[in-house]
Amino acid sequence: MNSTLSAQPYDLAIAGGGLVGASLALALAPLGLRIALVEGVAPVAGSGEHPSFDERTTALANGTVRVFRSLDVWRHMEREAMPIRRIHVSEQGRFGTARIDAAEQGLEALGYVLPNRVIGAGLWEGLRACPGVELIAPARAVGSELAGDLRVLVVERDGAEQRIAARLVVAADGARSLVREQAGIESDHWAYGQTAIIATITTQRFHAHVAYERFTPEGPIAVLPLAEGRSGIVWTRRPEEAERLLALGDEEFLAEFQRTFGFRLGRILKVGARHSYELGLARTARHVAERLAVVGNAAQSMHPIAGQGFNLGLRDAASLAEVIADASAAGQRDPGARETLAAYAKWREEDQGRIVAFTDGLVRLFGSPLGLARGLRSAGLLAFDAFPPAKAAMARLSVGAAGRVPRLARGVPLVTGH
Ligand SMILES: Cc1cc2nc3c(=O)[nH]c(=O)nc-3n(C[C@H](O)[C@H](O)[C@H](O)COP(=O)(O)OP(=O)(O)OC[C@H]3O[C@@H](n4cnc5c(N)ncnc54)[C@H](O)[C@@H]3O)c2cc1C
Repeated sequence: MNSTLSAQPYDLAIAGGGLVGASLALALAPLGLRIALVEGVAPVAGSGEHPSFDERTTALANGTVRVFRSLDVWRHMEREAMPIRRIHVSEQGRFGTARIDAAEQGLEALGYVLPNRVIGAGLWEGLRACPGVELIAPARAVGSELAGDLRVLVVERDGAEQRIAARLVVAADGARSLVREQAGIESDHWAYGQTAIIATITTQRFHAHVAYERFTPEGPIAVLPLAEGRSGIVWTRRPEEAERLLALGDEEFLAEFQRTFGFRLGRILKVGARHSYELGLARTARHVAERLAVVGNAAQSMHPIAGQGFNLGLRDAASLAEVIADASAAGQRDPGARETLAAYAKWREEDQGRIVAFTDGLVRLFGSPLGLARGLRSAGLLAFDAFPPAKAAMARLSVGAAGRVPRLARGVPLVTGH
């Protein structure tokens, strides 16, 4: 990885070097392409201040872990990864819980939990070994324009404008993607009127590799197992309630959390720094334009209730890398060729549609105070627990194995010899 700009056009210019953009650069590196990776905030080792590699913890599907193994970066992350052996789903004040057990599904784990800063550090460590990837950071992509058979990414860096010509520009600049928007690709946005508070807690009892999902009338709670016996929480509330909770002292905050979550992990002893995120659903109408592809949160962002956002975004990256690799193997050396982008768009629309419908359906089913939804929920949890095929389907989704699965997510390299 080096940091000089080149007058020669790049094969690809990726705007955004967050979780998905950095993964895409890594996935493409073995193809021998010249790639510019433009990132707004240069990550600092060990810091949780980066907008993508921050203090959140992410539940990684098994498919995602296979991608990281294929990209040879899992070894940088593995030590801190906590396997999820069981998911426990419950609803406050209602009878009925559901459990999905890894062993019952014939799996070692239903997924793995990692702090985002560990994932980010691992990805950037991997990029250091990729001579074809030029890192341009800190630099802000503000848009792009077509120029013959190239697209020029316009970048602000050190107060000056730079223009980076490439055969394909990729918008990986997150939910508020400037590059997507400026290219005229619209995105629907729906605000849920919910805020997620995230923090790390220390509990009296060991989590025993169980991830908890608890639905309450005020919003869902997820408690994810972490290394050293700690757990990561995602506590969803209405924005004004979240503001109140964020302003509380640690002890009062923990007392309220304990009341809502209960004593499954014994007493909650400590809480770390708290951060908050406004939750919404956004999805693009299109994944591509001429010589432009959209990946990750720039293409869709969703409620964290089902832990699908990054897993889906990484499949965007793995699918784009795969269609480019296959086109190249068939003699098409231009990664921005129309047919290649059309193949990418077709693949992603199906996957996006399924995951967005599943996640949004869960938010609405468990977010509704109406009697019918409540009845369905309770019956649903009980039936779900007693109905193995439903559990198997859910487990498949949680391991990221529904629909057409990218080769990297099956552990198959994109090009032989890697
Ligand atoms: C509370 C919470 C919990 C979550 N938990 C899970 C989970 O358990 N499992 C899961 O799969 N997903 C989870 N997600 C979703 C997941 O975090 C996102 O899907 C993921 O971060 C998307 O990665 P990305 O790289 O596409 O976008 P981002 O993480 O937003 O990264 C975008 C990158 O682009 C850079 N950038 C932005 N604008 C520009 C610009 N103009 N020029 C250059 N660079 C730019 C930013 O600095 C950043 O590095 C969760 C989300 C939240 C809010």
